[in-house]
Amino acid sequence: MPGELTMDKLVSLCKRRGFVFQSSEVYGGIGGFWDYGPMGVQLKENIKRAWWKAVVQERPDVVGIDAAIVMNPRVWEASGHIDTFADPMVDCKGCKRRFRADELLEGKHEAESVHGRPIAEAKLGACPECGGELTAPRMFNLMFRTYVGPVEDDASVAYLRPETAQGIFVNFDNVLTSVRKKLPFGIAQVGKAFRNEITPGNFIFRDREFEQMEIEFFVHPGTDEEWHERWIEERFNWWLNLGIRKRKLELREHAAEELSHYSKRTVDIEYEFPFAGFAEIEGIANRTDFDLRRHAEYSGRELTYFDEEKGEHVVPYVIEPSAGVDRAFLTFLIDAYAEEEVRDETRVVLRLHRSLAPVQAAVLPLSRNERLVPPAQQVWELLRPHFMTQYDDAQSIGRRYRRQDEIGTPYCVTVDFDTLKDQDVTIRDRDSMEQARVPIANLIKLLGEKLQK
Ligand code: ATP
Repeated sequence: MPGELTMDKLVSLCKRRGFVFQSSEVYGGIGGFWDYGPMGVQLKENIKRAWWKAVVQERPDVVGIDAAIVMNPRVWEASGHIDTFADPMVDCKGCKRRFRADELLEGKHEAESVHGRPIAEAKLGACPECGGELTAPRMFNLMFRTYVGPVEDDASVAYLRPETAQGIFVNFDNVLTSVRKKLPFGIAQVGKAFRNEITPGNFIFRDREFEQMEIEFFVHPGTDEEWHERWIEERFNWWLNLGIRKRKLELREHAAEELSHYSKRTVDIEYEFPFAGFAEIEGIANRTDFDLRRHAEYSGRELTYFDEEKGEHVVPYVIEPSAGVDRAFLTFLIDAYAEEEVRDETRVVLRLHRSLAPVQAAVLPLSRNERLVPPAQQVWELLRPHFMTQYDDAQSIGRRYRRQDEIGTPYCVTVDFDTLKDQDVTIRDRDSMEQARVPIANLIKLLGEKLQK
């Protein structure tokens, strides 16, 4: 009988089929770091590309940048990260395990509300693992520190960015003057972020090194609430358009006491994960004019926009949709995973959206027969410049279809003995498993149309 998806099954599929490996596994790994294999890197690229297409390419009002990971440390003073980007941590005096104190609280949303803030000791109780006594909570800053240059002293301390957003804020003026955008306009960025999470886990859900896709959308003060609504809708639809089931998605409004120091209002898009129930995959915050004002104050540079109509300088408000690439990766995999009974066998299939599938088309000769291999290789060569492809001639054709199903390949192209006579090949559809004969001459056009749909 087809079974439910468990995280064990997913982690094992990810390893077996080259999606995700534990980082430096031969040395026992390192907590919170993951490597993406040949299928994984492609899926990740496709997610980022789909995001970039939707928020930069297709919009008239958003441009992209790529800022450095290590920035002047004053950035993090101004942004508030040095003072407040910390989680409460406790240790068990008995078993020595370490916990994020807010995660020991009963209700998930109660926990959210103290995330990043000190927590009262009395609320915590005993160690959930051994029942031992816990230390008093102390704040632990999540930023990774490093040194720039050969001297390791206080003056050379720098940080690996914990969010990509600040690279956008400090480039506000550079972008404004170089591309001459008018308000409202946005700056988008995809890049690595680092957080020394106290308890990384749930596979790639909470990592210490991950990627973010962030937009800072600058608007006239007073229009921020309306733009916030628009972005919530826009971003929610992005997930739906890429095939995520609606019933698995939810919008969650942050309660006043859980808002970050910069936020006027935040709405999270949550997905129902098998291990955590509904949990955040993207946050959409109204960051007000907090960051631009702080950077202006700390840098002494004017970070304003000149409103020609009104003849005055304004400090724009900012709407920030912020999503994690790795969490999106996990979401797309979980949502796509299906097991079904086909001819007394269980078929595992990833029903990934066509634009996300790591392999778009697989070319399979019916067998390794010497008459079939050369034309199959020719078909593969024909498709390679146009699509991400794979060629597979090992084992039975049925096994090979299953292998492609398992990595989510939407189309398999099979070369058989009839091909030698009529120059037709069979296209098999991953989801319906239906097969159709098409002339090789039409293959590129046809696959192109199918994959664009
Ligand atoms: P959480 O409450 O889960 O720690 P957060 O509210 O701190 O997340 P944000 O700062 O809003 O997260 O980051 C925006 C997005 O970046 C999140 O929606 C998530 O997709 C991603 N993200 C944040 N932290 C991590 C992490 N440690 N590992 C992977 N992705 C992350």
